[in-house]
Amino acid sequence: MTTKRHLLRNIDIIAHVDAGKTTVSEKILYFTGKIHKTIEVHEGGATMDSHNLERKHGITISSAATTVQWRDHAINIIDTPGHIDFGIDVRCALRVLDGAVVVFDAVAGVEPQTETNWRLANDHDVARIAFINKLDRAGADFGRICEEIRERLGVEPLPLQLPIGSEAEFSGMIDVLRQRALTWPQPDGREIHETDIPAELRETAETARTQILEHLANFDDEVAELFLNGETVSEDAIIRAIRRGVGEGAFVPVFGGSALKNKGVQPLLDAVVDYLPAPAESEEAPFAALVFKSAADQKFGHLSYVRVYSGELKPGETVWNPREAKRERVSHVYQMHATQKQAIESAMAGNIVALSGFKSARTGDTLCEPGHEIVLENIEVPEPVTSVVLEAVNRAEREKLSSALARMLREDPTLHLATHPETGQMLLSGMGELHLQMKREALEEEGLEVQFGAPLVAYRETLTQPCEITHRHKKQGGGPGQFAQVTIRFEPLPRGTGVEFESRISGGSISAEFIPAVERGIRERAQSGLLAGHPVVDFKATLLDGQMHSDDSSALAFQIAGNAALRLAAAESAPLILEPVMTVEVTTPGDHLGEVIGDLSRRRGMVLEQRDRGLAKQVVAEVPLAEMFGYIGDLRSVTAGRGEFSMAFAHYRQVPKQAMLEQMAAA
Ligand code: GDP
Ligand code: MG
Repeated sequence: MTTKRHLLRNIDIIAHVDAGKTTVSEKILYFTGKIHKTIEVHEGGATMDSHNLERKHGITISSAATTVQWRDHAINIIDTPGHIDFGIDVRCALRVLDGAVVVFDAVAGVEPQTETNWRLANDHDVARIAFINKLDRAGADFGRICEEIRERLGVEPLPLQLPIGSEAEFSGMIDVLRQRALTWPQPDGREIHETDIPAELRETAETARTQILEHLANFDDEVAELFLNGETVSEDAIIRAIRRGVGEGAFVPVFGGSALKNKGVQPLLDAVVDYLPAPAESEEAPFAALVFKSAADQKFGHLSYVRVYSGELKPGETVWNPREAKRERVSHVYQMHATQKQAIESAMAGNIVALSGFKSARTGDTLCEPGHEIVLENIEVPEPVTSVVLEAVNRAEREKLSSALARMLREDPTLHLATHPETGQMLLSGMGELHLQMKREALEEEGLEVQFGAPLVAYRETLTQPCEITHRHKKQGGGPGQFAQVTIRFEPLPRGTGVEFESRISGGSISAEFIPAVERGIRERAQSGLLAGHPVVDFKATLLDGQMHSDDSSALAFQIAGNAALRLAAAESAPLILEPVMTVEVTTPGDHLGEVIGDLSRRRGMVLEQRDRGLAKQVVAEVPLAEMFGYIGDLRSVTAGRGEFSMAFAHYRQVPKQAMLEQMAAA
């Protein structure tokens, strides 16, 4: 089965945790006929949350891809997690998708994670429509959420629907363009009643339609001419104008309903087909695809989820992976459904499929036709800021642990594995406490016996003053001696630049083959730190001069010299320790605001902003990660269980002097 490109939609559903993303996905499967009975999320068994852990925690952790059919269109949907610790999945999804449905909670409105994801979607030019969910909840307010979309997301909301009744009385939506009332009389929501708009809402609905046409007239010439001459604007012309505006991000059409109560989902599917763009790829060009997710599947082995950007791929064909400089053969091509996979004969440009048979492809890799190398823009991976030491209980367990970790690293590009510089233990780093906690539980679920340390902060070290070091490494023994001399200038770079190396060797004072060895030595030293064993970052090393010896020089000698030069730079470059600082957004009932702020200050937090969120208050602060472990428990206790927070890495900052001295003493 191959779907023509104009009949294809690749979409993501994005939202803040708990807004109802999983429920909306479930109901989409239900109304498109993929599943016949939906299991509500709070009962712990939703189809898209296929992983045991996800069921246990009631949140979605890793994105699942699925394809549904609606009005002869194929819609590929990726369900992505809303929790910040798993933000990478959202990035990967946005990188490969064309459109998104952004789900809002009709009570909570625009929440922090939605703002973050909205900005990411802006960066990736993803077209969006909005769905205001939970209109059945007490306190639901469609109009207020539209205002929040305008104010907080900076985009014009275009309400193409208006709710009929609210809270417990919520019964359906008005289709503003067609001036019809849609209601769902049965609990299963299969049947839609289309009637005249109730008398008391008629005027509001007419005004809403005129406002939309006015807005479109400002934007679209065709609509403008008809509208301003008082002529009827055809439905087709309106849809065309809206689709164009959505594609350009000029406004966001707003729909609504209650996914839980089976109201509003079918019109949302119509909107996906009508307003979100079809992929714009070329079938003629050579094959190229991007791996946006890798996952081990018990039945099918390792699966690589890809978006095909050009050409076509069939089972049995060979592709080229430029990162690995390696060919790999595709065993099967699968169309993904939430609970099963269907082997298909070919994947065309624009499609999203899973491939089996690869031994080493990782998330972020490009796959292309051999002989037509191309590297697609990779997914930006944020800094891992939390680490944990882990150790297998015995030798047999150690091997199992290594292979389980190797698989996890392949699946999750935000996970890093290193060796602790002092203890030699394994050090697993990731996006946050919860992220690592999930990995730990996944290992335990596999029956592995692993000992975990407490979560650690990923500190860094850096230089603050430039210096020039000349170092001679010389050793004479029985066989050939070792000789290498280098002069290296070290200087600080801005935060986030990492380590740069440049060679200014001219005239062959040392031979070209030894230069990479000097760099290797510097990077090796940078990994093991200058003060307290943390990686040294944000500096540049310039190799200015050197000397070699015709018999006694080797790459190894130059590597040792490079390493030693950076070690010696510690004394002259005023190094210091950096710690990750997080942006923390706390939402709390107003009467606990004082305690929340007091608690943040005790954590060395700096409040940046306070705002009203309906009846609640929101505080935005920068707080060192070191002070944030176990925060959720403390927040719950100062807010009588009602506070919520999210956090994301902001930047690295110098640790207080006292803490630095303590760390150096302990190292
Ligand atoms: P996610 O975290 O965004 O995936 O949200 P879920 O789909 O897991 O939903 C979070 C909670 O909200 C669950 O308890 C759902 O049953 C509930 N929920 C979802 N949609 C609705 C809705 O339309 N109305 C109401 N009242 N609750 C809903
Ligand atoms: Mg979910």
